[in-house]
Amino acid sequence: MTHPESLHCDGKRLLDRLDRLGAVGRLEDGSCCRLAFTDADRQGRDLVVSWMQELGLEVRVDQVGNLFGLRRGREDLAPVMTGSHIDTVATGGQYDGSLGVLAGLEAVQVLNERGVVTRRPLAVAVFSNEEGVRFQPDMTGSLVYAGGMPVAQALALIGIDQSRFGAELERIGYAGPMAPGAIVPHAFVELHIEQGPILDQEGGALGAVADLQGISWQEVVLRGSANHAGTTPMRLRRDAAYGAARLICFVHDLAQELGGAQVGTVGSIRLQPNLINVIPREAVVTVDLRNTDEGLLRGAEARLESFLRELADQTGLELATRRLARFEPVRFDPGTVRVIEQAAAALGQPIRRMTSGAGQDAQMLARICPSAMIFVPSIGGISHNPQERTEPRHLQLGADVLLRTLLALSGDD
Ligand SMILES: [Zn+2]
Repeated sequence: MTHPESLHCDGKRLLDRLDRLGAVGRLEDGSCCRLAFTDADRQGRDLVVSWMQELGLEVRVDQVGNLFGLRRGREDLAPVMTGSHIDTVATGGQYDGSLGVLAGLEAVQVLNERGVVTRRPLAVAVFSNEEGVRFQPDMTGSLVYAGGMPVAQALALIGIDQSRFGAELERIGYAGPMAPGAIVPHAFVELHIEQGPILDQEGGALGAVADLQGISWQEVVLRGSANHAGTTPMRLRRDAAYGAARLICFVHDLAQELGGAQVGTVGSIRLQPNLINVIPREAVVTVDLRNTDEGLLRGAEARLESFLRELADQTGLELATRRLARFEPVRFDPGTVRVIEQAAAALGQPIRRMTSGAGQDAQMLARICPSAMIFVPSIGGISHNPQERTEPRHLQLGADVLLRTLLALSGDD
């Protein structure tokens, strides 16, 4: 019989592995650069596989490079799975993704040392190309794993460097034989840094992630006519930059007005010809709308659409929109969220329910099994940046909550 109250992770050992994995692909400015299926990604994978083997895990690799370390249980049942990703953005930090994988290994090591065999098997997963920097879409590995994209389609993806997903996967030696989705988890729980400021600002509680924002990305092209900035009377202008400016204000004001979980961002604008004395003939603007509620998100999209029609009427600009990405909000499994909250309570650690503002592998796994996430605070809310940091005590607490959650989900508490 397991006595979970006596089991604790070794925070120093976890931090040591984070530092060692963080050193792979490190640039001079301290950032981590392990884009999917590059040599640095291969070195990071090799290191994680060597740790899995040291811990006695059975290593399996699927056809899109997702990597699993399996630990036997007392009964031959569906495993409780944890994990995340180890690829990074081009100037990433060392905690994003890696924490979830290495805390899973730390939990396994504690169980090994204490001679604990859980009822269900455990699995520590590393999902391919979560960041989506080199190959789009992001979260490719977990998307394919959950049946959201055929293997052949993923292998044919072309990267920003014109490389092919399947060819690069072969090149680094991680094109495995297992069919994605072959191991259907009993449950999935992912530990991750928050990548936002809420927990840090609130004084260091952990987060039990109950849902995840839906994302709507569009590109809007506004076409007017280029002309002389001095000689063209105001009433005769079709100024694409003016239209873009009104759109930017609209997106900001719309999110303010709708309130709640609604956020809206124009993150990119390109003007043509982009010269001081020429009225711009074209503006290309991106609109990023997010909400935790699908109905409200659709409402925001509809408001944007009618605004664009009015804008075209009022300015004489031609407007065209193109969808870049669309993911519905995800509601994680309430039962799994409660297990996480109980695990934190047993440790005397405050935890609050929250929403993930970022996309996560757990949202894909939620399609095939009960899933939820644990967040630890990010100091200053900084992420995708070499300054990304989480206090060591929060790393330890997050790993302890993960360990207890795995035991509870496995039926060992
Ligand atoms: Zn991540």
